[in-house]
Amino acid sequence: MDLSLDPTQTRLRDLARAYADRVLAPRAAATERDERIDPAVLREMASLGLMGVNLPAGLGGAEAGAVSYALAMREVARGCASTAVTMAVTNMVGEVIRHFGSEAQVARHVPRLAGGDYRAGAFALSEPEAGSDPGSMRTTATREDGGWVIRGAKQWITSGDMAGVFVVWARTGGAGTAGISCFLVEGGAPGLRVGRHEDKMGLRGSSTVSLQFDDVRVGDDARLGVEGGGFRIAMMALDGGRIGIGAQATGIAAAALALAAARGPRTAANDGLLADTKAEVDAAWLLVLRAAWLKESGRPFSSEAATAKLFASEAAWRATHRAVEALGALGDSRELAAERHLRDARVTMIYEGTSEVQRIVIARSLLK
Ligand SMILES: Cc1cc2nc3c(=O)[nH]c(=O)nc-3n(C[C@H](O)[C@H](O)[C@H](O)COP(=O)(O)OP(=O)(O)OC[C@H]3O[C@@H](n4cnc5c(N)ncnc54)[C@H](O)[C@@H]3O)c2cc1C
Repeated sequence: MDLSLDPTQTRLRDLARAYADRVLAPRAAATERDERIDPAVLREMASLGLMGVNLPAGLGGAEAGAVSYALAMREVARGCASTAVTMAVTNMVGEVIRHFGSEAQVARHVPRLAGGDYRAGAFALSEPEAGSDPGSMRTTATREDGGWVIRGAKQWITSGDMAGVFVVWARTGGAGTAGISCFLVEGGAPGLRVGRHEDKMGLRGSSTVSLQFDDVRVGDDARLGVEGGGFRIAMMALDGGRIGIGAQATGIAAAALALAAARGPRTAANDGLLADTKAEVDAAWLLVLRAAWLKESGRPFSSEAATAKLFASEAAWRATHRAVEALGALGDSRELAAERHLRDARVTMIYEGTSEVQRIVIARSLLK
């Protein structure tokens, strides 16, 4: 067994670490206050390979693998969790299109996502009445004039106000998950309207919006994968995405721990809090790395990704709570980032499947 990093992994981690320290962390409070990530930052991250870490170099990616992706995500999240989720969804969209797309779809969208021509990618699965259960989705895609017409509403869509391409799930057949298909819709498509910007507790620098699809017409060549295959695409994408969210949670937790260690008073009680947190952050990180390594090795990793996401997100919640506790009133103050880390950590237990959904995935794999 060897837990050391190879040169590519080391390079990705180091460049993400340096960028987080030099650019992301110093402006994280402003990013949150302005509720906006500077587009120049997203372009610069693309030029560093961070928007397509696990995509081939020929398509503009860093071709650095799933472990490098986790390493980079942890570092970026340590600097700015809002920027990290934008990076996470863009990478996920690029990977989904690469995996399931036609040659033409891959050629059109993946280099634009990885290279920064698109500011971001968006993943439009959730709806007002369909969060944990995509089977209750109401958005439809109907065959008309040789193409498809998409009608319905999506909610909680990260980067939905600035994405160059949206992966959109819609019902093309009967009830349940078997009737769901997947489509690519380009930003600015006629009939695609951006609705409310969510006023969130955390990740306030990342935009989260509702979307309305009012007769959005796409060609038959916009369908991603086979008709009725949309649920499988969503589940495979989320398996990989959960590794990223586990890494994001670990990065937030590591930032909170470092702050508590640097600024908290040295008392026996605080040392205990820090030691417990360190043990949990390390455990979370090993779970994330295991899932990433399995994915990179082409082995099944669904349950391991759910385990990593469940443990890392809940560990991040505890870690950020303890950091606030260890810092006393300073922990509560916007003078330090501890209160932001606490707010940013909470959503990692919700998106890409809540903790309860991860428990269902893990239990199913145990019981089968
Ligand atoms: C900041 C943010 C960004 C997001 N970005 C995106 C995005 O880019 N794209 C996208 O498609 N979605 C996105 N989401 C939506 C997110 O994936 C959903 O919020 C999540 O899947 C939960 O769905 P819900 O909010 O409808 O909660 P619900 O499904 O209504 O769940 C409510 C509660 O009930 C529990 N519950 C539900 N079903 C079960 C069950 N069967 N067993 C046990 N407990 C259950 C849940 O665990 C939860 O505690 C985002 C959400 C947030 C907050």
